[in-house]
Amino acid sequence: MRLTRYFLPVLKETPAEAQIVSHRLMLRAGMIKQASAGIYSWLPLGYKVLRRIEAIVHEEQQRAGHLPILMPTLQSADLWRESGRYDAYGAEMLRIKDRHDRDLLYTPTAEELVTDIFRAHVSSYKDLPLTLYQIQWKFRDEIRPRFGVMRGREFYMKDGYNFDLTREDALHAYNRHLVSYLRTYERMGLQAIPMRADSGPIGGEDTHEFLVLAETGESEVFYDSAVTEIRLGARDIDYDDHAQCRAVMEEFTALYARTDETHDEAEFAAQVPPERQRRARGIEVGQIFYFGTKYSEPMGALVTDADGNRVPVHMGSHGIGISRLVGAIIEASHDENGIIWPEAVAPFQCGIVNLRQGDAAADAACETLYAGLKARGLDILYDDRDERAGGKFATMDLIGLPWRITVGPRGLARGVVELTSRRTGEAEEMSAEAAIDRVAGIFAAEPRPCSERSP
Ligand code: ATP
Ligand code: MG
Repeated sequence: MRLTRYFLPVLKETPAEAQIVSHRLMLRAGMIKQASAGIYSWLPLGYKVLRRIEAIVHEEQQRAGHLPILMPTLQSADLWRESGRYDAYGAEMLRIKDRHDRDLLYTPTAEELVTDIFRAHVSSYKDLPLTLYQIQWKFRDEIRPRFGVMRGREFYMKDGYNFDLTREDALHAYNRHLVSYLRTYERMGLQAIPMRADSGPIGGEDTHEFLVLAETGESEVFYDSAVTEIRLGARDIDYDDHAQCRAVMEEFTALYARTDETHDEAEFAAQVPPERQRRARGIEVGQIFYFGTKYSEPMGALVTDADGNRVPVHMGSHGIGISRLVGAIIEASHDENGIIWPEAVAPFQCGIVNLRQGDAAADAACETLYAGLKARGLDILYDDRDERAGGKFATMDLIGLPWRITVGPRGLARGVVELTSRRTGEAEEMSAEAAIDRVAGIFAAEPRPCSERSP
């Protein structure tokens, strides 16, 4: 993409309404525009990041054997009356009447709708296990929408639902989700720590939230510092292997890590050596639940088991805050000049800065780089504006592309361009061809190996 043809409405001034750094940087970098309280339009740069995060979530869900579907944002209140949540959900639910005076609502989550799909089509244990998920907009009429996309009213969420014959199978689904979430966040360059939490209006007996540590986080967290040293890394995971998934779950949840909802000061003191006790803040980027037959029983989602008995299915639900993640990644990765995108989610992988637009040699070298990098499958932003170098560097730093190639007449006279890492600031001179090879090589690494779940 050539910047002269792009729509990147960067702001020079720091917007007064933004209290935290991710919100400020998203507005300044022209990623979002507020439409009304807690509701945002996603401009080209922001939308690209949202899509990259979404793509990683899709890949990791499907790798774990979960099936993508798409359910509507508007739902009939009748289904929610069956589960008893229509009245129980409270003021966060946006309730709407259609022209026939029928009660609708904008989905804050979708346990009822997916259970209705299940009961209409599945009646035998032979069709289990089944996990359906979607990535869809949600609406919760938050009392205090704030921090930009971090606590919106309308937000983009992956929500998944597992259906299993037995409690044991459903607990495997829980562990499988935990493992797949760990992989998902690690691929985005984030550390999200599973912490024992409270189940809130979803209900249920077992639940973990995934938290990214950040001073601006809204959750208070208490943990053993040793938990921050565990990584899933490149292990080969078989998502059908109950024992392996359980072992990973146990490894990641054995040490003390809880949100304020479940924190117990006495247990904390007893389990964690004083030098490893941490009290901090975190951003909740996901949550998994096991809730048994809470929805299947009242809604009649039954299957026939091997003995011919009709039994309610065991369920869980699992959410990832896709739009919140955009902000969370920025909170975890920025400096005083702007955003520093992890390579996997960067809107463009590399920027080209032409220091002397209109200089024949500089223009030609930039065109060669631009075409060469695109031919290697990379997404490039070429700053071809007739602007001062300082302004171009400031824009690149603000929007946080991981790599920048700087091209100017002086370097070209010596046959070199400069490749700079946004994260370290380290710059290296090399030929344009070498720069293309280097950048293409960085992004060539395939996602880590992992067994597909067998059908
Ligand atoms: P919170 O405690 O932050 O209000 P929640 O526990 O009610 O969130 P869940 O029902 O667990 O949210 O939803 C799954 C994920 O969706 C959350 O982990 C979070 O990342 C995201 N999410 C929830 N509410 C919002 C919101 N208002 N704005 C943006 N993302 C949200
Ligand atoms: Mg939650």
